[in-house]
Amino acid sequence: MFDVIISGCGPTGAMLAAELRLHDVRVLVLEKETEPKSFVRIVGLHIRSLELMAMRGLLDRMLQHGRQRPAGGFFAGIAKPAPVGLDSAHAYLLGIPQPVIERLLEEHATERGAQVRRGCAVAGFEQDDEGVTVELAGGEQLRSRYLVGCDGGRSTVRKLLGVGFPGEPSRTETLMGEMEVGVPQEEIAARVSEIPETRQPFWLRPFGGGVYSVVVPAAGVGDRAEPPTLEDFRQQLRAIAGTDFGVHSPRWLSRFGDATRLAERYRVGRVLLAGDAAHIHPPTGGQGLNLGVQDAFNLGWKLAAQIRGWAPETLLDTYQAERHPVAEDVLDNTRAQMELLSAEPGARAARKLLTELMDFDEVNRHLIEKITAIGVRYDFGAGPDLLGRRLRDIDVQQGRLYGLLHRGRGLLLDRTGRLAVGGWSDRVDHLADPTAALDVPCVLLRPDGHVAWIGDDQQDLDDHLSRWFGKPAG
Ligand SMILES: Cc1cc2nc3c(=O)[nH]c(=O)nc-3n(C[C@H](O)[C@H](O)[C@H](O)COP(=O)(O)OP(=O)(O)OC[C@H]3O[C@@H](n4cnc5c(N)ncnc54)[C@H](O)[C@@H]3O)c2cc1C
Repeated sequence: MFDVIISGCGPTGAMLAAELRLHDVRVLVLEKETEPKSFVRIVGLHIRSLELMAMRGLLDRMLQHGRQRPAGGFFAGIAKPAPVGLDSAHAYLLGIPQPVIERLLEEHATERGAQVRRGCAVAGFEQDDEGVTVELAGGEQLRSRYLVGCDGGRSTVRKLLGVGFPGEPSRTETLMGEMEVGVPQEEIAARVSEIPETRQPFWLRPFGGGVYSVVVPAAGVGDRAEPPTLEDFRQQLRAIAGTDFGVHSPRWLSRFGDATRLAERYRVGRVLLAGDAAHIHPPTGGQGLNLGVQDAFNLGWKLAAQIRGWAPETLLDTYQAERHPVAEDVLDNTRAQMELLSAEPGARAARKLLTELMDFDEVNRHLIEKITAIGVRYDFGAGPDLLGRRLRDIDVQQGRLYGLLHRGRGLLLDRTGRLAVGGWSDRVDHLADPTAALDVPCVLLRPDGHVAWIGDDQQDLDDHLSRWFGKPAG
């Protein structure tokens, strides 16, 4: 008997397993593939995901394997630098291949005691009042208290649950890859600058280390059922630019569509969905993996609280209440980006106008905060703007705030020194620090770093501790 079975060991499943293990939840991750994927899909980890990694002591490991790049230029590929003074101590993009992220997250989960079984596909399940019986493709049955489908866009768990996945099917397909080029950078820049903006989707951008990121339309080349080849890219580059720039030595090549869909529900009884199993959208802006990892971060402590027995009755349902609107917003911003990438005259005009508007700091900032997810604000009711937002990694007496969140517990950051967490001290840490760089007296942080309360009154604090952390011990 496990507490939680997770279907799928992609980035979402691995992150969730690690989060659950912080609270000693017995976790089994079932992954249908026998070997980790080598297929590279990701451009990078955005600011909020980097913050999550810092909150769990994983950022240094990620930094060793990635390349820091400026955070700007992601909205519809409009080349504008990020605004100055983004509200984060980690205000950059970390270019890091998806297989590396998956490996590091899986290592992190297993180091904390999660079990991962590869070559095991979830094929069926049945839930009852006490738990879920999960059936593997080979017929073996396993039992757990909860099942979470982190099994990607074609999620078996979502389909078996019968949860609707409304949205739009794929209309166009695109080729994307990284490869080396056979001509000097200046020659490429000169040729690319002559290509009309109407030739979309298209880019050929230096990614560092002599490698270029290439995006071209997929229409008319290759077989949809087969992985794309370098020759497909050459053919499309010649059609657009009149030359294939001597591309060679691909690092990875992929083909993707622009289907956009959102699960109607994230939870049915003891079965939940997270990551691509719950939402799919075009990769424009590089948000999908980031969104899934952030789902896992939101769900982990809540599901753990449910299993440990201290969760307030409605806590688990706040997962859908908080994350569904965030996914809706990401889907909408990718829809908007796809329109802005279209070659139609109206879309070209809208892109030109937005490009001009992005010279206004507030517009640029708004879009970057969206893409990087640092603009997310959960609805915790009326209160100051900070309520429901994540708190940046501020300096505190012991060093950095995020360094105090590695154990996945709540934290009362108290500049008054007068407050106490009393009977919640087994779930919530208390840091009395008059020097903390806050412009409010005290904040209560949830384990995911979001601000659950602001104030200086003990009774009000106790009410909010009950709201988020259940009944006090004793
Ligand atoms: C070309 C391209 C570029 C992208 N670039 C970016 C980017 O720059 N930034 C970004 O954030 N996102 C990007 N994405 C999106 C990102 O790759 C996905 O959002 C991300 O992989 C989702 O993670 P996941 O763990 O939810 O699902 P997946 O990565 O799909 O993992 C699901 C796992 O479940 C397993 N599985 C499936 N069925 C079963 C079953 N029945 N039983 C057990 N296991 C099962 C699968 O084998 C897989 O390992 C890109 C996508 C594409 C196509």
